[in-house]
Amino acid sequence: MAIRTRARLLVLLPLFGWGCGDTINPIDPPIDDAPPLLVLTVVVHVIHSGEPEGKGPNIAAERVAAQLRILNEDFGREAGTPGFNDHPVGTDARIRFELAQTDPDGDPTNGIHRVDRSAVENPVPPDELFDYYAHFGYWDPSRYINIWTMPLPEEATDIILGLATGPETTLPGADLLTPGEPDQAEGILINAPHFGPSNLSTLHGSGRTLTHEMGHYLGLLHLWGDGGCVDNDFVADTPPVAAVVRSCPVPRATGCGGEPIQHENYMTYAPDDCMNLFTAEQVERMRHVLATSPRRATLAH
Ligand SMILES: [Zn+2]
Repeated sequence: MAIRTRARLLVLLPLFGWGCGDTINPIDPPIDDAPPLLVLTVVVHVIHSGEPEGKGPNIAAERVAAQLRILNEDFGREAGTPGFNDHPVGTDARIRFELAQTDPDGDPTNGIHRVDRSAVENPVPPDELFDYYAHFGYWDPSRYINIWTMPLPEEATDIILGLATGPETTLPGADLLTPGEPDQAEGILINAPHFGPSNLSTLHGSGRTLTHEMGHYLGLLHLWGDGGCVDNDFVADTPPVAAVVRSCPVPRATGCGGEPIQHENYMTYAPDDCMNLFTAEQVERMRHVLATSPRRATLAH
């Protein structure tokens, strides 16, 4: 189960976007050309085995809040945080995330749903990952992004990081992502040690696993696609690479076309502390999904 999904290809993604071609009347006030801010609601299902809150996989509320802060810093390319970059194509996605304040029944919630799995009979086989975890809790995916933290054995740390279902879309390459509904529940799985800031992993303990998986959830592929220099990630401003990127920048490491490899792109397997980049065209792809895909287009408010 090598988790963190697959991807591929090279076909230029059409420029979906917020750029408007209207002629600007000189007497009009300046136009703020920033795209609308899209705020998405998430629920974090913390699945544990009866540990007290704050112990082991029963992650503390403060750590959940810190994870959401990191996610927003990364998607916002926020100055003064590890999510900032000065890359020429680095872009604030204008996508933000907040914990649910109302549950599906309309009752108040803090957006954290804790489940002691030892007290729940689950008939779904554990290898049917998303459906298995959804049995513990699954909120309407057209309103909430479901995130489950997985209480996996310690040996899985740094081996299993996370997994996300991809959107239903005609965008090229989307068939390489893990399918969600109607085949299986939609959402994001994160191995608990890799959720939020954690001292349990030196490579992936800074909360970037969720940033990466959220990229998949919104339609992004790995920079290397299926591997090789021809098929890639369908995003023109991420130089093609032939193989999986797992390391921080190495001097003179270059991609297929001789450009520097974007080790710092969130859609690699590089260590958390190397990452800080979503490109302009990656952002366009995600925003296209949020504008058009079933169960994604209804998320923003
Ligand atoms: Zn991945």
